[in-house]
Amino acid sequence: MAELILKPGKERSAMRRHPWIFAGAVAHLKGRARAGDTVEVFADDGRPLGRAAFSPHSQIRARLWTFDADEAVDHAFFKRRVAAAVAARAVLPELRGQEGLCPAASTLGMRLIHGESDGLPGVIADRYGETVVLQLNSVGAEKWRDAIVAALLPATGCTRVFERSDAEVRGLEGLEARSGSLHGGEPAGPVVIEEHGIRFEVDIRGGHKTGFYLDQRENRFLVRELASGRSVLNCFCYTGGFSLQALAGGASQVLSVDSSGPALEAARRNLALNPQLPAGRAEWRDADVFEELRALKKAGARFDLIILDPPKFAPSPAHAARAARAYKDISLLGFRLLNPGGLLMTYSCSGGIGLELFQKIVAGAAADAGVDARILRRLAAAPDHPVALAFPEGEYLKGLLCQVV
Ligand code: SAH
Repeated sequence: MAELILKPGKERSAMRRHPWIFAGAVAHLKGRARAGDTVEVFADDGRPLGRAAFSPHSQIRARLWTFDADEAVDHAFFKRRVAAAVAARAVLPELRGQEGLCPAASTLGMRLIHGESDGLPGVIADRYGETVVLQLNSVGAEKWRDAIVAALLPATGCTRVFERSDAEVRGLEGLEARSGSLHGGEPAGPVVIEEHGIRFEVDIRGGHKTGFYLDQRENRFLVRELASGRSVLNCFCYTGGFSLQALAGGASQVLSVDSSGPALEAARRNLALNPQLPAGRAEWRDADVFEELRALKKAGARFDLIILDPPKFAPSPAHAARAARAYKDISLLGFRLLNPGGLLMTYSCSGGIGLELFQKIVAGAAADAGVDARILRRLAAAPDHPVALAFPEGEYLKGLLCQVV
C-alpha cells in the first residue's frame, strides 16, 4: 500500500476524525497509487492516522475510510459499514414499522447511507420501497461499487439497486456521470412511496437528487400539522411534497409555484394518486418565484402560511454573497405577503451558508419588510440524514419557521 505523508501540523483534522485530507495538507506520496486506491495515511512524525481513498484529481486528495490504521478496507469492511448505517435507522421511530426497519413490502422512502456522516465518504443510498438508489460521488466509492451493492442487498432485503451517479461533484473527482440498473433490473413503472399516508411517485431515473427530497420529510409533516384552515403558498414546489401534506392537513387553499413544467406535471399526478385529498383546493402555477411573489403582492394576495424551499443558490462559498441576496429577496417578499399572525417557513440548502448567517439574512428580510417576526422553530434535514459531529459540512439544510406579529 502506498503511504500518504502529511505536512507537520496537518494531522490535526484527521486526529479529530474529520475524513477529508486536502491537497494542501499533503507533503508527499510514498509509492504509487491510482485514483480510488487505498493508501495509509501518516502524520509528519510517523504517527499512523488511518486508511483513505486516494483521489489525485480532487482538492480533497484523500477521504479516510477508517481511523484505525489496522482495519483492512475490503469487502468485509463495506459489509460492516453498510449494515451499521442501515441498522442505525432502526432507532428512528418514524422509520420503524412493527416488523422492524422498513419491512420488505414497505413503501417508505428513507436515506440509508449519508456519506461521510455514516463512515462511507462519497456514498449516498436512498431507499424507495424495494428499490435502493445509489449515488457514488468520489473515486474511492466508485472503486468499491460492487462491494457496496453486495452489502446493500442483504442489509436491506431490497430487490433492486439502481445507480444515479450523476451529481455535479463527480466532475471534481474526475468521474463521468453514470446511471442505470446495478441489480434486479429497472423497475417497470414509476416507483411509488408513501410518506405520512400520502403517495408520491418517484422518478428514480431522472428526478432531482436520487428522485425525491427525502431530507424534507419531517418538515413536510410539520406543514401538515400547521395547515388546518390556513391559506398556503408553496414556492419551489417541485413534485408537490409540501403542497400535498398541506392539503392533507386541511389547508383552505394551496397555491404552488415552480418554473419546471415536468415537475408540475408530476405534482398533478401525485395529487391524482391521492383521491382522498381535496383537489379543488389546489392550484399549480408555472412561474418564476421571484416574479410571481412580486405579482402576488401587486394583486393584493395574502396567505397564512408560506413555504420557500429554493434550489441551492450557493453551490460553493464563492457564490455566498449573491445567494444571500436571493434568500433575502424571497424571504422579504414572503414576509410582505403574510396575513397578521402568518407563518413563513424559509430554507437554505447551500452548504456555504451556515445557520447563523441564514438567520441574519432572514432577520434582514423581516426588517426591510417592516414586520416584527419571531422564530418558532429551527429546522433541519430529517434524522436519516445525520450529521457526524466530526463532519459539520454534512449539515447543509437549514430552515426557520417564523411568525409575524
Ligand atoms: N420543496 C420541494 C423541493 C424543491 S426543489 C420538495 O419538498 O420536494 C427546488 C425546485 O425549485 C425545483 O423544482 C425547481 O424546478 C424549482 N425552481 C428553481 N428555480 C426556480 C425559480 N426561479 N422559480 C420557480 N421555481 C424554481
